[in-house]
Amino acid sequence: MSAVDVVVRLVYLAAATLFVIGLHLMNSPATARRGNVLSAVGMGAAVAVTLVLLLAAQTVTPAGWAVIAVGTLVGSAAGLYAARRVAMTAMPQLVSLFNAVGGGAAALIGIHDYLRFGGPDGDLTLLTTTAVTLDVIIGTVAFSGSLVASAKLQGWMPGRPLLLPLRGAVNLVVAAVIAVASVGLIAELAGTPALLLIVVAALLLGVLVVLAIGGADMPVVVSLLNSCTGVAVAMAGFVIGNSMLIIAGALVGASGGILTKLMADAMNRPIRAILVGGYGTGDAAGALPGGAGDGVRTIDADDAAIRLAYAGRVIIVPGYGLAAAQAQHELHELAELLEERGVRVDYAIHPVAGRMPGHMNVLLAEAKVPYSQMREMDEINPEFPRAAVALVVGANDVTNPAARRPGTPVSGMPILDVDRAETVIVVKRSLGHGYAGIDNELYTDPRTRMYLADAKTALSELGTAVKTLVG
Ligand code: NDP
Repeated sequence: MSAVDVVVRLVYLAAATLFVIGLHLMNSPATARRGNVLSAVGMGAAVAVTLVLLLAAQTVTPAGWAVIAVGTLVGSAAGLYAARRVAMTAMPQLVSLFNAVGGGAAALIGIHDYLRFGGPDGDLTLLTTTAVTLDVIIGTVAFSGSLVASAKLQGWMPGRPLLLPLRGAVNLVVAAVIAVASVGLIAELAGTPALLLIVVAALLLGVLVVLAIGGADMPVVVSLLNSCTGVAVAMAGFVIGNSMLIIAGALVGASGGILTKLMADAMNRPIRAILVGGYGTGDAAGALPGGAGDGVRTIDADDAAIRLAYAGRVIIVPGYGLAAAQAQHELHELAELLEERGVRVDYAIHPVAGRMPGHMNVLLAEAKVPYSQMREMDEINPEFPRAAVALVVGANDVTNPAARRPGTPVSGMPILDVDRAETVIVVKRSLGHGYAGIDNELYTDPRTRMYLADAKTALSELGTAVKTLVG
């Protein structure tokens, strides 16, 4: 083994260690930023030594180096621009777009390797051809599926499930075509035409599966496709014999898989049921007209301010509407005003509040809410009975008591026990539904008061009203 090889392997080992430590640090919002930086440093080092390896091997032509240089510049510029400019609420679709790029790149590696070294006269082993086949299938499905998911989340396609007639049978036929073509490719019965068939059918399968899934289930699908991309990248690593790709791909595959399971569990939805599709209507789910319905009690800013300002303890429950209104700064300002008056304030974080894992943590961290005040569901739930006010801002499903009994779309989903607080103040624009598309029984609870307004406006009004209180 040459000295360059030894250095490259050592750097790969160090990079893999940084990925694992980085992932571990992402367990907590307080250390997540550091985890991101460490992982990025690991990835930067891995890319740098891979370039050194290519340089030493002298296998890349000048035109090849030009392509690498332009690709690096364009990719880095696009990544930097997107990461800095895209709003927090648009992160899921950005992640999905990045995911499509990863899946597509992994598939291209497999296609290139087969076209160059595969076929009856080529020198690919059975094992490598199998890895190429899996890489192309998984990478291509992840590519087209992620593009559709991104378009749905961005609103470029309808968020509701698109249920084509006979879709189950059509999906099965497409999957069967992929299976038969794969056998043809691996057994060297049909070379490039089989590869082409696999690519076309896998593109179609990704589109068909994701089209049938509702916009609000999309974050789980994005996580699953992300896991698929990781597996495809690991396969690509096997194909070109690069241990770094195998390690990075395996980490993405495993962590994406765990995240998918955690999200599905927190929503009480089996992954299989999500993939079958047909659930959820997207974010615009059945909004009822503003105003009170039967048994609903409303509250105005002055009254709400009095209840909050004279409470011993307030638990704030943020939800998707807070992110949609971008009202996190107004919320933190209100909390600080209350704290100045001696009120104890905590934030209750439901694991699937918002539209992506950690959505609320990131949002509140952006507004500089101290991490110590962000309390996980299991930890805060026993404390609601001791709170004078539960202030629910733009959260709906994660507070719906209907989840405690069987027979509803949210049954079995663990919820935040806001209805056990002395008073519940709910800030949202109307009595409209959340992601699950069902009425929230909390809104007719005698202890609930609805503050019907956009979260940003409502929180500013509440802040002003608290400031005007004397004593
Ligand atoms: P919901 O989607 O249940 O409800 C959000 C509420 O926000 C709506 O009812 C809406 O009511 C209100 N809202 C929207 N815009 C505004 C605004 N500008 N000002 C004030 N209120 C607003 O959100 P939750 O966070 O409670 O629950 C998340 C849901 O998403 C769960 O059902 C979860 O299963 C699902 N989900 C979460 C994922 C995750 O990873 N976090 C992934 C996939 C799904 P109105 O229109 O009346 O204002």
